[in-house]
Amino acid sequence: MQIDQSKCVACANCVPICPMGAIAIDPALNRATVNLDECVECFACHRGMSKEHLNPTLVRTIRGFFKLLRLRFDPEPDVCPTDALTPQELTWPRVVRRAFSDPLVPHESTGVHGRGTEEVKTNDVTGRVGQGEAGFTIEFGRPGVGVRFRDIQKMTMALAPLPISFEAKNPVFSLMADPATGSLRPDILEEKVLSAIVELKSALEHVPQVLRVVEEVAPTLDTIVSVGVSTRCDARGEDALEPLLKREGYVCYRGKTNLGMGRRPAPASA
Ligand code: SF4
Ligand code: SF4
Repeated sequence: MQIDQSKCVACANCVPICPMGAIAIDPALNRATVNLDECVECFACHRGMSKEHLNPTLVRTIRGFFKLLRLRFDPEPDVCPTDALTPQELTWPRVVRRAFSDPLVPHESTGVHGRGTEEVKTNDVTGRVGQGEAGFTIEFGRPGVGVRFRDIQKMTMALAPLPISFEAKNPVFSLMADPATGSLRPDILEEKVLSAIVELKSALEHVPQVLRVVEEVAPTLDTIVSVGVSTRCDARGEDALEPLLKREGYVCYRGKTNLGMGRRPAPASA
C-alpha cells in the first residue's frame, strides 16, 4: 500500500486503521507514509475507509488557515478526504503478504480466503485426522504482531524430524521447498503477514513430543504462537487426548466439538 503524497493532507485518519501500525505522519513531509517493510498488504486502510475526492490544495489551505485561528478542520474519522491511499500492483514474493493477510483474497493454493485453511473443522468430511491421531494447528502472529516466514521456518524445521506429517492442503505447505526438512522457499523468508497457520498430524502418543518442540521454539520467535490440538471422539463423545494432555500437565479445555454435519463424498466409481 502506498499513500499518494500529492493527495495526502496529513489528517491522520488512516493511522489507527492499520492493524500493523505501519502508517505514520512524517512531520518533516507533513504527509502520511507507509512503512513498507511492516505493511502486510491487508488492504484494511484502503477498504475500511470511505473516500472523498476533495481538492488536496484546497483542504491543506483550509486546514492551515484554521490552524492559525487555533481551530481544526478535520474530515469525519473514517474518511480519507482526498482518496490518497493507493494500492500497489503486487508481484512475487510480496503478493504472499496479501494472500495471508487480506480475508477477502482467496489463497491460490487452497481457494480458501485469507490465510486460507479450514483446519480440522471439516474433519467429518475430509477425514484428515483419524482414530488414534491428533491434528495440530500452530498459528503464528496476530493483528499488531504479524509474523515473517523466516520465523515460521524455524518452527517447521524443528518439527520436520518428528514422526509427523504436514497437511498438504495448507497454504504454508504450498510454500515449502522441502517438506522433509520443513524448509520454506528462500525468496519468501523476509515477507511479513498478519498471521499464518501450519497444520500437521501425528499419532496420539507423539502429542507430548510435538508440544515440547513447539514450547522450545516459540519463545525464540519474533511473534506469538497459539496451538490447537484435536482428535476424533469415540461413539460416546469421549476422547483419549484430554487425559493425555492432563497427564502432561496442560490445563485442557475442550474448545469446540464439531458434530457430524458433513458427509464424505462417495468414492468415484471406476
Ligand atoms: S486519511 Fe488520507 S489524507 Fe488523511 S493522512 Fe491518511 S492518506 Fe493522508
Ligand atoms: S495495507 Fe494493511 S498493513 Fe498495509 S498500510 Fe494498509 S492497513 Fe496497514
